[in-house]
Amino acid sequence: MPRIAYVNGRYLRPCDASVSIEDRGYQFSDGIYEVCEVRGGAIIDERRHLERLRRSLDELRIRLPVTLRALAVIMRETIRRNRVRDGIVYVQMTRGVARRDFSFPPPGTAPSLVVTARNLDIGGNEKKAQQGIAVITVAESRWARPDIKSISLLPNVLAKQAARDRGAAEAWFVDRDGRVTEGASSNAWIVTQEGRVVTRPADNGILRGITRTVLIEVIKAQNLLFEERPFTAEEAYGAREAFVTAASQIVMPVVQIDDRKIGTGAPGPVARSLRESFHRHAEWS
Ligand code: PLP
Repeated sequence: MPRIAYVNGRYLRPCDASVSIEDRGYQFSDGIYEVCEVRGGAIIDERRHLERLRRSLDELRIRLPVTLRALAVIMRETIRRNRVRDGIVYVQMTRGVARRDFSFPPPGTAPSLVVTARNLDIGGNEKKAQQGIAVITVAESRWARPDIKSISLLPNVLAKQAARDRGAAEAWFVDRDGRVTEGASSNAWIVTQEGRVVTRPADNGILRGITRTVLIEVIKAQNLLFEERPFTAEEAYGAREAFVTAASQIVMPVVQIDDRKIGTGAPGPVARSLRESFHRHAEWS
C-alpha cells in the first residue's frame, strides 16, 4: 500500500485519498495510465513514457490536466514521499468528474490526476527471472485499440486470473489467425531455432511497450538477428527461447507456454543477456 498518493493537487495518505463516484474513470473506464520503473531512485525512460501518455490522451481527446514538466515534478515528489528506490511510479488520468452521461462532459471539466509509487521486491523479481515463468494462451478478446494505454482492462484482468488459475504468471492473447498479439501486461517475444529474435510489429493491435522499444535498440547494438513480424502460438511452442517485456519486469524469460516446455525448460542465454544489458541502454532521469 503506498503511503502517500497524489490526488488532484494534494498529497494524501491512502485512507484520506479518494475520487468521486462520478469520476468517469470509475463510471466508464474513461481514462489512461502509465507505469514507469524506478531504479536507484531514478525514473527509467521517463521521456518515452510521457510521450506515450500524451499520445494516449490525444487519441481519447482528454486534456492534459497539468504540463508534462509539472507532472514530472509530481512523479518525483510522490517517489520521494514514498521512499521508493526500486519500484514503480503509476500515473492515471481520467476525463474528470461529471454527471453520468456517455458523451463527453461539458468543456472545462477538469481531468482527474492520481499518482502513486511503491517499492517492488527486486530480489524476488530477480529470482523469478532466474527460474523463468509459465505463460498460457487465451483468445484475444480486447477492443481494437490496445495501442492506447487505457484503464479499461477487464479482458486483461480475466486473462491474468486464468493464468493464475493454471499456475502461470502471464497470459498471451492469440488472435483469430492463431497469432500471438501480446501479454495481458507485457509484450511477447520468441527466439527462433535459428537465433532470430522475433516480436510482433507495434500496430494498433498491441501496446507499443517502452521496454520493447528500448530492447530493440539493445538487440541491434548486440548485432542479434531481429525480425518484427507476427508469430503463432505453434511457432512459440517450438522456439528456442521466449520472454516478455514490461517496465516492471524488464526482460522476463518464459520457460513454459501452455503445457509445452520452451527450449531446455530453463531461461535461455539471449533473454538473460538482454535482461542484463537493458539498463545500460535505457534513459535514466
Ligand atoms: N502490453 C501491455 C498490454 C501492457 O499492459 C504493458 C505494460 O503494462 C506492456 C505491453 C509493456 O509496456 P511497457 O514496456 O511500456 O511497460
